[in-house]
Amino acid sequence: MDDSKRLKEIREQIAEKTRIIAEAFCQRTLLASEMASLKAKLNLPIDDYHVEKNLAKQIREICTKYGLDPTKGIRLLNLLISESIALQKSVYKPLITSTTVFEESRRLEEQGSKVIHLEVGEPDFGPPQRVIDAMIKALKEGRTHYTSKYGLPELRRALAEKMSERWGASIKPNEVLITVGGRAALALALSATLKLGDSAIIIEPAWPAYKRCVESLGCRARVVQTTLENRWEPDVNEIEELIDGITKVIILNSPNNPTGKVLDRGTVESIIEVAAKHNITILSDEAYAEFSYKDRYSLLAEDCDKIVIGTFSKAWGMTGFRLGYLITSAERCAAIADLAGELYTCVPEPIQLAGLAALECFDEVNTYVAEMKKRRDLIISLLKPLPIEFREPEGAFYIFFKLRGEMRGEEFVEQMLEKQRVALTPGSSFGNYPQFVRLSFCRPEEELREGVARMREML
Ligand code: PMP
Repeated sequence: MDDSKRLKEIREQIAEKTRIIAEAFCQRTLLASEMASLKAKLNLPIDDYHVEKNLAKQIREICTKYGLDPTKGIRLLNLLISESIALQKSVYKPLITSTTVFEESRRLEEQGSKVIHLEVGEPDFGPPQRVIDAMIKALKEGRTHYTSKYGLPELRRALAEKMSERWGASIKPNEVLITVGGRAALALALSATLKLGDSAIIIEPAWPAYKRCVESLGCRARVVQTTLENRWEPDVNEIEELIDGITKVIILNSPNNPTGKVLDRGTVESIIEVAAKHNITILSDEAYAEFSYKDRYSLLAEDCDKIVIGTFSKAWGMTGFRLGYLITSAERCAAIADLAGELYTCVPEPIQLAGLAALECFDEVNTYVAEMKKRRDLIISLLKPLPIEFREPEGAFYIFFKLRGEMRGEEFVEQMLEKQRVALTPGSSFGNYPQFVRLSFCRPEEELREGVARMREML
């Protein structure tokens, strides 16, 4: 047979196989949709890694039979599973989420109600005065221009120096990228490490942005659940069991939002070992690093494949400045800077100069942290007599508590807002924690006292 004839034949066969895949995909989607309604009715969790693992095994065997790289098949499987999960999620409608709490409390305030805000992840103190002065000075001196996509060299240098000193690391300026808050650092870091159909491991309860970001990249978020009973400690064996050939990232967040858990050095070392064994990058979100009420520890000091995310939002009270950074190898930093440049050119120059001044303000940071520790001790003593369970936070500024009895977190949050005018966040926003609620204690003492008094009434 001549080559052009054979080519025509192959084309026809490929078209036929594509039609078969499309038919199978549609049938699979219809089945997944029926499964979604059944799971919702039976109150079953959406993810089932046991089933997934079995499917992955079969796909691996099929790929091997044809002499193909099994990771290609697993990537396809992840895409199919992501489709089913999206369908199932559209069936499960939470009563209330962190976003609806925010919107509803604003609506109540517009109508003249006074709402106590124990839902916000934003310190009530503003930035140090020197930060504001530096920003005004920058504006007056005409420092209002584009900067390098990496950020101002003086800010990268200062961050490398200060963070090395604070965490016992040896960071070089070309390993630092200035970003639009920790959130952009996260999105950029994940975009640079994950390819369509890859998977990432998340330890829950977790900041919801991780899962959303992984899924928005067409990737599969695999979850290791931790429990109150087990001191929010992740099981490293469970992490390893979830790793397949296309797991690219493990996301760590210590101190954790929402539990306040600070990972022990031993646990982090075991995770580093597992990650190294399977060639996986650790993405360490250290947004709350300064708010550690036990030994300070950072992945920055570890020699491993890592991207560390930081922010000026929390410790310097600079949420509205939208200033953050990431620290990783110089090579990866350059690749991520390209992405950042494509997305937003650079972080505004006066904001970066405010950040430079912030790095001179660790006295103020230490005062804020000491104040937060006082509030932590107060809120623990106020909550202890209530019929709820929680572990004392070792870091950050949240209490993640479990309701006793039948009431679900979402119901409790809804009623607290409607009847008591106290805004909280339901545990379901952070993973499969229907009985939990997050309370943020970065509010003044009198608001904490009043908020807890109203909770006592409801409980
Ligand atoms: N990481 C965690 C765990 C957070 O809770 C937050 C904010 N809520 C961030 C990162 C990012 O904060 P920002 O974008 O303001 O820097």
